[in-house]
Amino acid sequence: MSQNADNILDHANLFREPEYLQMFENKKQQFEDPCGSDELEKIREWTKTPEYRELNFKRESLTVNPAKACQPLGAVFCTVGFEGTLPFVHGSQGCVAYYRSHFSRHFKEPSSCVSSSMTEDAAVFGGLNNMIDGLANAYAMYKPKMIHVSTTCMAEVIGDDLSSFIKSAKAKGSVPEEYDVPFAHTPAFVGSHITGYDNTLKSILQHFWEGKERTPGEAINLVMGFDGYTVGNIRELKRLLNLMGVKHTILADNSDVWDTPADGTFRMYDGGTTLEETKQALHAKATLSMQEFCTEKAMEYAASVGQEAVALNLPMGLQGTDRLLMEIARITGNPVPLELEKERGRLTDAIADSSAHIHGKKFALYGDPDLCLGLTAFLLELGAEPVHVLSTNGGKAWEEKVQSLFDASPFGKGCHVYAGKDLWHMRSLLFTEPVDFLIGNTYGKYLERDTGTPLIRIGFPVFDRHHHHRYPVIGYQGALNVLVWILDKIFDELDRNTNVPAKSDYSFDIIR
Ligand code: SF4
Repeated sequence: MSQNADNILDHANLFREPEYLQMFENKKQQFEDPCGSDELEKIREWTKTPEYRELNFKRESLTVNPAKACQPLGAVFCTVGFEGTLPFVHGSQGCVAYYRSHFSRHFKEPSSCVSSSMTEDAAVFGGLNNMIDGLANAYAMYKPKMIHVSTTCMAEVIGDDLSSFIKSAKAKGSVPEEYDVPFAHTPAFVGSHITGYDNTLKSILQHFWEGKERTPGEAINLVMGFDGYTVGNIRELKRLLNLMGVKHTILADNSDVWDTPADGTFRMYDGGTTLEETKQALHAKATLSMQEFCTEKAMEYAASVGQEAVALNLPMGLQGTDRLLMEIARITGNPVPLELEKERGRLTDAIADSSAHIHGKKFALYGDPDLCLGLTAFLLELGAEPVHVLSTNGGKAWEEKVQSLFDASPFGKGCHVYAGKDLWHMRSLLFTEPVDFLIGNTYGKYLERDTGTPLIRIGFPVFDRHHHHRYPVIGYQGALNVLVWILDKIFDELDRNTNVPAKSDYSFDIIR
C-alpha cells in the first residue's frame, strides 16, 4: 500500500499510485462498454461545430448543467440573516444535506438547517406528523428565537399546506402559540434560489408587518439579496452607510453567521437582523434592494405598505456605485462625503493604470441575473467586451436590461444575451465564438478544461478557491477587487503564453 501512517498522501497524488491505476483499468475492462475512441473523438469534434450549436439551441425539453439551484436553498440563505433564526425545510433530509454542504463549502462555515425528515410514508399520507414532531424537536433542541419553514419539491407535489400544518403543530403544543413561525412555499420545480430568497423575505416581512400601522421615519432598509459575496458586501454596504451617516437596517443580514470567529465557542446563530429591527423596519422611509431580480415580490410588498421601493442591479463599478450613493443621498438628504469621492477617484485611477491590458478583451459570463448585469456594466466601463452573457434564471425583462447596456456602449456591439440557457449552451458558444476569458462560478472549470477558455471565478458557488466571499464586489472598493481578480488572470495567461526560454520569453516581463 502506498498509503501508511508515515507517508500520508493527498488524494490528488494517492490515486496516481500503481495499485489505483490498475484498479481503474480493471473497472474499465469489467464494467464499461464504451464505443471506440475514433467514434468518440468524431462525436466530440462534431459537438464543437456551428451545426451542433444550432441543434443545441433548439433543445426544449432538457436542461444540461443549469447555473442555478432550487428555491429552498434561497430560502435557507435568507432565513439565516435573521437573529437566532433556524431554517426548517419541510421535506427530506437529503435536500437539506445539499443546502448545508453547498453553503459550508462556499463559506467554509458550518451551516445550520433542519428538515422535517419526510420519507416514503409522509410522501403518501402527507407530512403533518413530521411537522408536529419536527417543530417540537427543533424548538426544544436548538432553542431558536424564530423558526422559518420552507418546502421542498416533495412537499409541494403532495400539496402540504404550511399554514394549516403550523397551526395544527401549535395547537398540539410543538411550539407556543405566540412563537414566530413565518413560512413560505418554495416549490423547487419553478423559479430558482433567487425566487426562494424573495418568497422567504416577503414572508418574514409580512409576518411582522401585516396589520400593523406604519409611522414613516427617517431610517432606510437595505436588502442585499442572494449573493455569494454576502459577507464582504454587507460589511461594505454598512461602511458606506455609516460614512454617509445614514440610519439603516439591513434586512436578512447573514454576514456574521457565515464568518464566525474561531475562538473556541460554537455559534449556531450569530449576528443577523434582530426581530425587533425587523418589526421596526416597517416604518422605514424606503427599502433599497441591491438585486432587483432577486427581490421582486419583497419589494412589491414594501411598496404596498407605503415605503419607497428602489431596486438596483448589483451596484458594481463606477456608474453602479454612483447610482447607489446618489439614490441613498436623494432618499435621505445626506450628501456623499469627500472620503467616498476620493475612493471613486482612486478606482478611476486604477482603471486607467490597467486599461491597456483589459481594453478590447472578450469575455463570456454567466450567473444570477443581477450579478450578470453588474458585471456587464463594469466590463463595458473597462472597455472590455462581454460577448456572451448567460443566465439560466434570467427572463425576458432581464434580457432587455442587458441589451440596453450593450446598446449604450460602443463595446457592446456584437455582444449577445442569453436568458434561460444553461452551461451546455455556453459550451457551444465558447467553441463557435471563442472569447479570451470566462467569468462564472466553480462549475465553469469544466468548461475551462473542455474549451480552453481561462476561468475567472466570480459567482456562487466558488468551492475550489478560498475566502473570496470575504471581499466585497460592490462599491468602489468592490470594483477594485473585481478589477484585480480579472487582471490577475490576464497576467497569468500572458505569462503562460510567453514562458518558453529563448523562444517566447521576449515578453516574460517582470514589470507590467
Ligand atoms: S430540487 Fe427538489 S429534490 Fe432537489 S434539492 Fe431541491 S427540493 Fe430537494
